[in-house]
Amino acid sequence: MTSPLSTATAQPEILTGPALWPAQAHVPSVLGRQIVIDRGDGSFVTTVDGQRLYDGTAGLWHANVGHAHPALAQAAFEQMNRLEQYHVFARFANDKALALAERLADIAPIDDPKVIFGSGGSDAIDVACKLARRHWQREGRPEKTIIVSREHAYHGLHAFGTSIAGLPFNREGLGTESLVPETALVSADDPELLARQIAEIGPERIAAIVTEPIQGTGGMNPPAPGYLEAISTICRENDILLIVDEVITGFGRTGTMFASERYGLEPDLVTFAKGVTSGYLPLGGVFVHPRIWQPFYVDSPDTPVLRFGSTYAGHATAAAVALRHLDLLDEERLLPRVVELEALLRDELDTLAARRPGVAEVRVAGFLGGVQLVPEIANDRVTDALVDLGYITRPLRGNTLQISPPFVTSDDEVRAFVRAIDEVVASEEQR
Ligand code: PMP
Repeated sequence: MTSPLSTATAQPEILTGPALWPAQAHVPSVLGRQIVIDRGDGSFVTTVDGQRLYDGTAGLWHANVGHAHPALAQAAFEQMNRLEQYHVFARFANDKALALAERLADIAPIDDPKVIFGSGGSDAIDVACKLARRHWQREGRPEKTIIVSREHAYHGLHAFGTSIAGLPFNREGLGTESLVPETALVSADDPELLARQIAEIGPERIAAIVTEPIQGTGGMNPPAPGYLEAISTICRENDILLIVDEVITGFGRTGTMFASERYGLEPDLVTFAKGVTSGYLPLGGVFVHPRIWQPFYVDSPDTPVLRFGSTYAGHATAAAVALRHLDLLDEERLLPRVVELEALLRDELDTLAARRPGVAEVRVAGFLGGVQLVPEIANDRVTDALVDLGYITRPLRGNTLQISPPFVTSDDEVRAFVRAIDEVVASEEQR
């Protein structure tokens, strides 16, 4: 039966569009105006319509060595012709996964780690959080289950990453409280508040604290003075594991191989992804401290089994590309280059902030920058106007623009990018 009311209410139109459902998007806002990338070269990408764009974000912080590098294409081609993939379950492995794990163990910010592979950052976070709980259960302290993360945190969108998200929109509508129970959020930047919150949660119930060294999606926030030190002290004094999420910062983005080195962190677990292959193939993983892996390596019939793994964990072609990619970071001297780029970006953005009243604050740590705009100027409008001028940036939380070009960019390209931001903000100031 139709109620009289239902005929009176106009139904909104259902849009269609391409079969691909755009990720993290308000669909009606993006349909019909998607920027479809067809090819890349170094710090640039070109759309299917032929517009060449400067990739001021390196995609999602991944294209560190630039796009379409022939050496990596070659490595993938050779490996696929030899063996595309063989799994790493039980007695099986493939030679590239073994070689990559050795190579990574040498540069990891943990001494003598074991390496667990997965397909990306969300995978890595899921394994790290499970491993933290499993560790305390095996230690005879099963009450230590709570995973603590920071406000504004982003740790991917698998079950654990969703549940420890510090960006509320990533947790909405998935259950009454949280997808995975027993998680807690703490202050992102205030060491004193952090200490009080940890005391309230009960340190004896906490399995691990997870932190990005520099918050990315949460607004490009370098650590506040004393904050990471406070987390380290709390972890050490209360038997809490420290999980450092280096998915963005790993493999040179901050001028050291890992940001843990830059900030003097001593993690128990480190997650990585993106920069391990510069995104050429999906690969991520976790470095595991000896205090966590050794009990699973005891020579005894009673030794427990750690349940993890997936079909593509340790993917042979992804590993071959990662090995070649690590060579490239050396051959092209990209880490020292990041140190130069950080100084250049800081100068350029400081000048921008001084010139433009529309810029509220700029933040730089490594070759990672955030340009925070005043509330009257919307970062998504600025992002759209920059694309029209040929520059890709991305609106982050806190009315901030993401600045993270590939490491292979030139000084002139960085200057031109900041000039373009200046131009767009200046015109928005006039509105
Ligand atoms: N952790 C951090 C800090 C990230 O920035 C991201 C992705 N942007 C992830 C985890 C999730 O990685 P992925 O998208 O590869 O699953």
